[in-house]
Amino acid sequence: MISSSLSALLKIVFGSKVKRKTRHTLASRALRLAALRIALVCACAGGVSYFINHAALEQSVRKQLSLSTEQALQRESLPFREVKDLEKNFLVEFDRIYAAAEARQSLALDFDHIFYRHEDGSYTQRPGLFEGEPLPDGRRFPGMSATYAPDVTPDEDVKTRFALSYLLSYQFGSAAKGRLFNFYGVVPEKGFPIYQAADIAKVFQYEGPDALKLETFEFYSRGFAGPQNDTFFTRIYWDPSNNAWMTTIATPDAPDASGKHRIMACVDVLLDDLMKRTASPTLPGARATIFATDAQGTLIFDGKYADKITASAGEASISSLEIADYQPLLKASQSIGAGSVSLIDSNTEITAVGRIPDTPWVLAVHYPKSLMRSAILTNLGIVIAVGLLTLLVELFILRSILQKQVAEPLVRLIHATQLVGRSGVTVANDALPTHSDDEIGELARDFASMAARVHAAHEALEGKIRDRTSELERLNQRLLTISQTDEMTGVANRRRFDEVLASELAGLGQGQELLMLAMVDADWFKGYNDRYGHPAGDACLKEIAGVLERNTRSKQDLVARYGGEEFAIIARVASAGNAPIIGQALCSAMAAVKRTHEGSPFGHVTISVGIALATPDQNISPEALLLEADRALYRAKQRGRNQAVIAEPSADTEIQQIGA
Ligand code: GH3
Ligand code: MG
Ligand code: MG
Repeated sequence: MISSSLSALLKIVFGSKVKRKTRHTLASRALRLAALRIALVCACAGGVSYFINHAALEQSVRKQLSLSTEQALQRESLPFREVKDLEKNFLVEFDRIYAAAEARQSLALDFDHIFYRHEDGSYTQRPGLFEGEPLPDGRRFPGMSATYAPDVTPDEDVKTRFALSYLLSYQFGSAAKGRLFNFYGVVPEKGFPIYQAADIAKVFQYEGPDALKLETFEFYSRGFAGPQNDTFFTRIYWDPSNNAWMTTIATPDAPDASGKHRIMACVDVLLDDLMKRTASPTLPGARATIFATDAQGTLIFDGKYADKITASAGEASISSLEIADYQPLLKASQSIGAGSVSLIDSNTEITAVGRIPDTPWVLAVHYPKSLMRSAILTNLGIVIAVGLLTLLVELFILRSILQKQVAEPLVRLIHATQLVGRSGVTVANDALPTHSDDEIGELARDFASMAARVHAAHEALEGKIRDRTSELERLNQRLLTISQTDEMTGVANRRRFDEVLASELAGLGQGQELLMLAMVDADWFKGYNDRYGHPAGDACLKEIAGVLERNTRSKQDLVARYGGEEFAIIARVASAGNAPIIGQALCSAMAAVKRTHEGSPFGHVTISVGIALATPDQNISPEALLLEADRALYRAKQRGRNQAVIAEPSADTEIQQIGA
């Protein structure tokens, strides 16, 4: 797989041609090795980066998760702390005024100004007060409502507390207007003055004595159930008029010695903002849950289980829904201090769990581990992308270096090597990469000087061969001459004579000329030898040969020693008439030498000549022509010697020796 990716990469870098062209070159091998090396580096760097990233990222995620959850806990606790403080202040103020006897009297009077009694014995505030109409004394209480249950007849104390609750609820409620929803101070005798957005008397539509059963409300039954005076949160409930989940935060006053409460401060809190913030935690990709610290882990908010929470009217819990994943969170929440965060790991998530201070609630922020994986893979992708980019750059650089500084100079060297030793070819220095100052340049310079030496040696060798060849040719020529020459007389020998006669006869048909064959024989030569000795005979034969040569045309005619004291002459003649003239001239020339031969009737050495002629159309064989010439010679001898005779089959022509 790696090698196919590499070749694909090489293709991208060099185009598809390169692969075929440079398959076995040094450059392609080096490039492939570079690609392999960088691929390995990429893989190793990727692996190392993966593990380092994984550890670093997980640590950073844990830190961020912890920190952001801690911040969320502090932030979300703020409105609840304000409510709690407000309620505590309300109770302090209530106690302070209630303790003053004067104030109590005036409050009892206020009760009669503010409220009126219905027929069933219950009370509500006078009409128009909610809308802001003034009392006769000028005081206004816009936003206030009140109801009082009919089944308890109010005594002075109840009236005092009820009126005081009314005044303080207006004071605290209007001070926090816009930030809190309802503010109300409830008396245990089922009195209920409230600062609110809508007139509660109208909201609840007064419908007789059993209309408002306060004891059925959680805040009332829990707040006045025992001696405890801690702030508590009711179960969340759906408020249709605001289309939102709400909870009531209630703080009852400290009970008296008999365990009786006088007042309880209550605030209804809209939870939609809190839920919205919980639905999208600050850490991207995370989600959050809020559940109560009760034994079941009642769910306040969870995006995943929102439908079940709604369907159960806020009763759904981690236990009732049997959410196994959240069990460790529930367990951890029991022992965790408000505001601090602990991290819980599961296979799929890291969850930060912390109590929201001043609430009975736990915030759990879930961070999916898969997010971390994708971030790590992104990092890995970046490492690999950078690696590949490096690879591309390195391949381009390597390619240009190898191509320009190695491959091309080497190719030039290879071409130059192929030229070395070729005859007549010199290696031009500028065809070699001799200017490079690297190893190839050095090699090229050494190569150039070697090529020059080879060239010089080659030239010298060729000169010697030329000399030897011409010497050999000369010797061959000499050998040829020797093989064709009669050693003693220096004229052509018998072999040469046979060749020339055959070729002259063969070539005769092409021209108009006649071929003349003259057989020459020394007269009475035996007698010469006998008289003067053989060395003198040899000298005489040399003289005869000289005479014959001087009296023939040296280039066209051939004088040969036929054998013994016989010579033969082959010559072209223009007409048959020339033959006797030539024959006679030869005899005369020899006689003219006057070489003494006392055994001869002429007194000096003479020769006899027998001549035969071949005409172009005759087609006569050498043997036949020789026979004819021999016959003519025989006749010349018969007729007295020292003469030439032309062979004529019908009648031989006699030529008298001129000097005879
Ligand atoms: P004729 O006039 O009829 O030709 O008489 P002739 O004596 O010349 O003829 P013959 O054939 O009887 O003798 C030829 C002699 O030539 C015999 C031989 O000793 C001599 N001879 C042949 N070759 C040589 C040679 O190379 N050197 C010498 N010195 N003599 C030779
Ligand atoms: Mg003879
Ligand atoms: Mg003779």
